[in-house]
Amino acid sequence: MKHISTFGASGHQLSELQLFRGSDDAPAIARRLAGCAVMRVEAGQPVAHGQQARLYIVLSGALAVAADTRTGMADGTVSKVLPGESVGEQSVLDEEANLASITALEQSDLLVIEADLVWQLIDESNALARNLLRLLSFRIRAANAQLRRRQKLGEFYRQLSMIDGLTGLYNRAWLNDVLPTMVATAHGAGTPLALIMIDLDHFKKFNDSHGHLAGDQALRTAAQVLSGALRPTDCAVRYGGEEMMVLLPDTSDKVAAAVAERLCERMRQAVVFGDMRLPLPHITASLGVASLQPQQDEHALIAAADAALYRAKEAGRNRVALQEQPA
Ligand code: GH3
Ligand code: MG
Ligand code: MG
Repeated sequence: MKHISTFGASGHQLSELQLFRGSDDAPAIARRLAGCAVMRVEAGQPVAHGQQARLYIVLSGALAVAADTRTGMADGTVSKVLPGESVGEQSVLDEEANLASITALEQSDLLVIEADLVWQLIDESNALARNLLRLLSFRIRAANAQLRRRQKLGEFYRQLSMIDGLTGLYNRAWLNDVLPTMVATAHGAGTPLALIMIDLDHFKKFNDSHGHLAGDQALRTAAQVLSGALRPTDCAVRYGGEEMMVLLPDTSDKVAAAVAERLCERMRQAVVFGDMRLPLPHITASLGVASLQPQQDEHALIAAADAALYRAKEAGRNRVALQEQPA
């Protein structure tokens, strides 16, 4: 960064500088700025600002400001400062060193105003004070909007990490997150909670006969059967490979058994579009139904549904088995 001139000798006008727009007493302010240094920074070079708080106004060229000064957020965001625009107001106002890294995007001439003079000018010029407030307000807004965007994005990715990519059903991470709460709510409110465990029948054979891609398609079809048959309060989860689970809050075991029968029937009827040269492949599933018992935790509930599922398999598959009633 090289001292090349003063503002007074530079030929630039006060009206070019955004911060001084609308000044009532432009000639007086121009006189105050006349002795301020104009520095030249070559393309790619940093604007060295050291420890002093200073205001830089771009007279020509362009600067890249990474983080901090403009938005108040150190997050890798880079903003461009064009002729007439300023950087460093915030560090002048709060007397903190400028933490942003400022680099010239091309050869740039900068008007440098030391903090002391900025304060004197604020005392003298209402227009400058107003412009500064407007600028800071704008930057706070931009920073807040960015924060909101980032929060939304974070929430989006969090939700995405709870969804199974192949089927669009909730995944195991979601289940681990939600089921304990569902169980606690059911115990607390004394409402029933039913769980249906679903495993596709002879799915290894399905993959062997139709190929893994058709197998994937069959899994998607099965997931659609579940999602399409459930009420808004029910949830379908891909528990593992070809095992799925349906959670039915506030649902009696009788109703849950009826839901399971309906799901079993719809699986049977669902058509998987695989290789069109082969007869349309069908899938069947075995289902185990369990209802939350007093003092049962989520693991015991899953184990009970699993045991029922096992019995459905044993009994010949393509059917529903209910939880064994306590003697
Ligand atoms: P059963 O009726 O006893 O359940 O027999 P099965 O063949 O379905 O049982 P098993 O659990 O032994 O096999 C499950 C098969 O599911 C094995 C695996 O290749 C297949 N599988 C698991 N996940 C996927 C997947 O994401 N895509 C495909 N295409 N197949 C999968
Ligand atoms: Mg299976
Ligand atoms: Mg299985």
